[in-house]
Formats: sequence, C-alpha cells, structure tokens
Amino acid sequence: MTFVITGECCSDASCVAVCPMNSIHPSPGEPGFGTGASLFIDPRTCIDCGACADICPVDAAQPAEEAAPEDVERNAAYFAEREALEATDLDSWEPPTYELRGGGPRRVLVVGAGPAGMYATRELLLRTTAEITLVDRSEQLGGLVRFGVAPDHPNTKQIIGSFERIVRHPRVRWRPGTEASALPDGYDAVVHAVGARRSRRLGIPGEEAACTAEDFVAWCNGRPGAELPVELVGPRAVVVGNGNVALDLARLLLSDQLAAVSPAVRRTLAAGGIKQVVLLGRRGPDEAAYTRPALEELLAVAGDRVELRYHARPTAWTSEGLTLDTGETIAAGNLFTAIGFEGQRVDGLPFDAERGIVPNVRGAVVDRPGHYVAGWIKRGARGGIGVNKACAQETVATLVSASRGAASPGS
Ligand SMILES: Cc1cc2nc3c(=O)[nH]c(=O)nc-3n(C[C@H](O)[C@H](O)[C@H](O)COP(=O)(O)OP(=O)(O)OC[C@H]3O[C@@H](n4cnc5c(N)ncnc54)[C@H](O)[C@@H]3O)c2cc1C
Ligand code: SF4
Ligand code: SF4
Repeated sequence: MTFVITGECCSDASCVAVCPMNSIHPSPGEPGFGTGASLFIDPRTCIDCGACADICPVDAAQPAEEAAPEDVERNAAYFAEREALEATDLDSWEPPTYELRGGGPRRVLVVGAGPAGMYATRELLLRTTAEITLVDRSEQLGGLVRFGVAPDHPNTKQIIGSFERIVRHPRVRWRPGTEASALPDGYDAVVHAVGARRSRRLGIPGEEAACTAEDFVAWCNGRPGAELPVELVGPRAVVVGNGNVALDLARLLLSDQLAAVSPAVRRTLAAGGIKQVVLLGRRGPDEAAYTRPALEELLAVAGDRVELRYHARPTAWTSEGLTLDTGETIAAGNLFTAIGFEGQRVDGLPFDAERGIVPNVRGAVVDRPGHYVAGWIKRGARGGIGVNKACAQETVATLVSASRGAASPGS
C-alpha cells in the first residue's frame, strides 16, 4: 500500500515537511509548485508511514486503498515520466533557502542518531557550512526506527538507508557508542536529540511483573543486550494501551509468520504459546489513539484472537490475571504495558518533569544559550518519524539565526 493525495488538497505543503522519503511533489522550490491544484505522492518511494495523513489539515492524504481509483491514477500518472527522487540522494535535496551570510556555526554537536538527530544533521548540512559531530550511545544509528518500529514493518525501516547516507557526508563525524558527556567542549552549538525512552507506569500493585512495550520491541528487534524480562505464559495475555505501539505489540504476539525476527525470538514466541490477547483502553473507541490502518492490520493478523475492551481501568496484577476497577479479573499469564513514554532529565539542562521535556522556545533551550533540542525530548513522546523532520527543521532554523551572534556554550 502507498498513500495518495486526493482532490481535496489545498497545497499548503505541510505534508512535504514531514515526509521522510521526499515522496511528495512538486515541493516548494520545485517547478510547478504553487501553480497546480494539488500535490502528488510518488508510489515508488512512499513507505506508507502515514506522516502526511497525520498532518494534513483537510484529510487530503489518504491510504491508496481508501482513496477513489481516479486519485490513485492521478498520482501515479504524475510520476509516470519522472525519475524517482530518492530521499537517500543528497543531490536531489532542495537547494538551501536560508541566506548564508557567514557567521553561522562552525562546529555543532548533535547528540542522538534517532530521527530527530538525523534530520537535524541533514538540515545543518543543507543550511550551514558547519562541521557536525554526531554521537549516539548506541553502536547503531536510527534510534527507535531501528529498535522500536515493529520488525514486520520493513518498509518503515527503509528510512535507515537515508540516515546511513547522511552520516557518510564529509562534514559529518559519526561517533557511534559515545555518550555526549565523554566529548570535550568547544562546540558553537549542541543539539540534544536524545528521545524519550522511559516507559510510563500504570501505578498498580504487581506492575513490576509486567513487560513494557519498550522492552518487548527492543527484544523483538534484536537491540544488543536486550532481553525479554518475563517468561511468556500462554494462552492469554493482556496488553494495556490504545495507541499504535499497543497494537504492534498485540500483532507481534499473535503473528504466526514473523519472518523478520531472529530464530531465537521466533522460538521464544512460539514456546510461550500466547494465542489470545485482550487489548485494554482507558477511554472509548472514538478516543483511541491508534490509527485505522494499524487496527485493520492487527485484525487481519489476529482475527478473533484479539479482544478489544474499552473504558477499562486496571487496579492490580496478580498470578490470577489483571483485576479491573469493576472487580472483574481477566485471567492471563502475562501483562504488557504500552501506555506511552516520557523524557528523562538531560545533564546540565533545565527539565519540565510534568511534560517530560527540556523547556525550549522553537528548539532553543530556555536559559542555556547555544543548547537546542529536537524530537521527543523537545515536544514530548508524540508523533511518528516524519514529524521529527519538521521539528528538526524548526530547531536548526532557530540555531542558525541565533548562532550569528550567540556565544559558544562550551568555550
Ligand atoms: C515502539 C515504538 C514503535 C514506533 N513505531 C513507529 C512507526 O511504525 N512509524 C512511525 O512513524 N513512528 C513510530 N514510532 C515513533 C518514532 O519512533 C518516534 O517519532 C521517533 O523515534 C522519535 O525520534 P527521536 O529522535 O526524538 O528519539 P529516538 O528515536 O528515541 O532517538 C534518540 C537517540 O538518542 C540516543 N541517546 C539518548 N541519550 C543519549 C546520550 N546521553 N548520549 C548519546 N546518545 C543518546 C539513543 O540511543 C537514540 O538512538 C514508534 C515509537 C515507538 C516507541
Ligand atoms: S509521509 Fe509517509 S506515507 Fe506520506 S508520502 Fe511520505 S512516505 Fe508516504
Ligand atoms: S498537507 Fe494536505 S492539503 Fe496540505 S499539501 Fe499536503 S495533502 Fe495537500
């Protein structure tokens, strides 16, 4: 499946800014932008991430399966005679539109090689002449794209290919397996793009025996050192959460054909014998945070082996199962939680513990000149991969204007 833009499009180009694959054209600056009635999605490069649909103010970006056949044809026809522009091809990126008057940053440190850090690096390459040091405590780049996105979504993981291209740029020094604190000072600016990995807690007795989504997907995705912290006990599991991550978890537990995981993971899942999943939401179906395509995918894999329950409030987890505030106990062998993530304090920076973010104004950290944030640590743990692109663009725009007169944080 791919996405298409329908005739409702009013060409405000919000979707172009969040498309991680550069699939939407004509984009601002390209011939034809602003002259036609619509934009188009290239079916050859679209990875079906849904970021365009999430941001579109008029619901004009839609999954091809749900769009009218003429809209699908219109999109395909626009690209029939045009070459596919790859997101991995730096030469196909649009030319810088900022005025480079000199005085921009010379050395920038980007901490975190997840989507926010990678898009910040890409943006710095496009808009400045700075040398960029990119570090991640992990040995591999990609952040949650590599170790969070479900392994049976290989299309989404293709974005890592474009990230690998970014780190090969001659102005980027990529230092995997490095904590920011291990580096000397002396940068004109630091972009903290460290994500928001701590799992939220339910706050009920017995919860310490639960497996968080973070742990489960990291194990499924083969993150080095990640282990499944619980023994799987079939036949029934409860997953608390109503977002796409909860649906990913239920789908992975019930899928019989997980080709994209290691044999060890496959064996453990099969031996666990989980055959049914009860998915619990605190609110009603109209307020559920998952998207319709994600629900349809789960139902296609799981059929009647998944039960969706709403308005359910867990009060305790015991060896019997999960007790709800109604007094009912759902008999189950495992409890999984997928109720969101929150940011953690970054050394040396202010922290808004309630929102789990570093307080900032358009990416500039409050009261810390020269320090910037991008991604989930800037906005909170919301939004898919593509949203981090527009987010990083805003941060780098703030950095570029400020650095033309700002003091170095580290010197
Ligand atoms: C389970 C799960 C599944 C998801 N699936 C999808 C999906 O299918 N499609 C989609 O569009 N979005 C998905 N998302 C959302 C998407 O992953 C996020 O929008 C995105 O990863 C946030 O980017 P980020 O760069 O802010 O954080 P992250 O991806 O978490 O990257 C942060 C990086 O910083 C590094 N880091 C942290 N602290 C330090 C430090 N002190 N020093 C050095 N490095 C450090 C980390 O190792 C990590 O690599 C999913 C999220 C989760 C949790
Ligand atoms: S944002 Fe995602 S779904 Fe939309 S065109 Fe780009 S790659 Fe495709
Ligand atoms: S966000 Fe929606 S309205 Fe705006 S250009 Fe994209 S498809 Fe068209």
